[in-house]
Amino acid sequence: MSLQQLINELVRDVPDYPKPGVMFKDITPLLADHDGFRAVVAAIADHAHGRIDKVVGLEARGFIFATPVALALGAGFVPVRKSGKLPSETFAATYDLEYGTATIEVHRDAFAPGERVLIVDDVLATGGTAEAAVSLVRRAGAEVAGLSVLMELSFLNGRDRLKDLPIESLVTV
Ligand code: AMP
Repeated sequence: MSLQQLINELVRDVPDYPKPGVMFKDITPLLADHDGFRAVVAAIADHAHGRIDKVVGLEARGFIFATPVALALGAGFVPVRKSGKLPSETFAATYDLEYGTATIEVHRDAFAPGERVLIVDDVLATGGTAEAAVSLVRRAGAEVAGLSVLMELSFLNGRDRLKDLPIESLVTV
């Protein structure tokens, strides 16, 4: 079975969650499957280009993939968290959601100058979260080497907001 087939089999579609009209991609069956989880982590690590000093995970499901990817690449892990969760000084970025806004943060001292960073999340949808994360990493003095996601929802055109950024998605829907 190909990796794409494996992911399609192990990621469950939950209709109308968290609200009507949304098809939620539930990764919990994949995480519970040792071979599937390991294959996905290995594939994300394999797709990384060049030296990666830090892997950034986007709260919360991005943490689950970014952490083992960091270990596989010999890199450190940096969390990008929702507002108010990081204890030390932060940079913050606010972006629009369908209703209202969201704010994410990173520690100001998370990176050494010029470090190369891979950003990892489970799903790329509209790209708003990833775009905000890219701006945070750059403000904190690091270089964004790329974005890697398990699934890309191409009909939401998230890629268009992330021009010039190398994006790897294991499955495109
Ligand atoms: P966006 O900022 O629109 O690209 O949304 C990306 C964030 O929302 C990611 O952190 C995803 O975990 C989550 N997300 C958005 N849409 C979905 C979906 N259909 N299924 C699962 N997670 C989603």
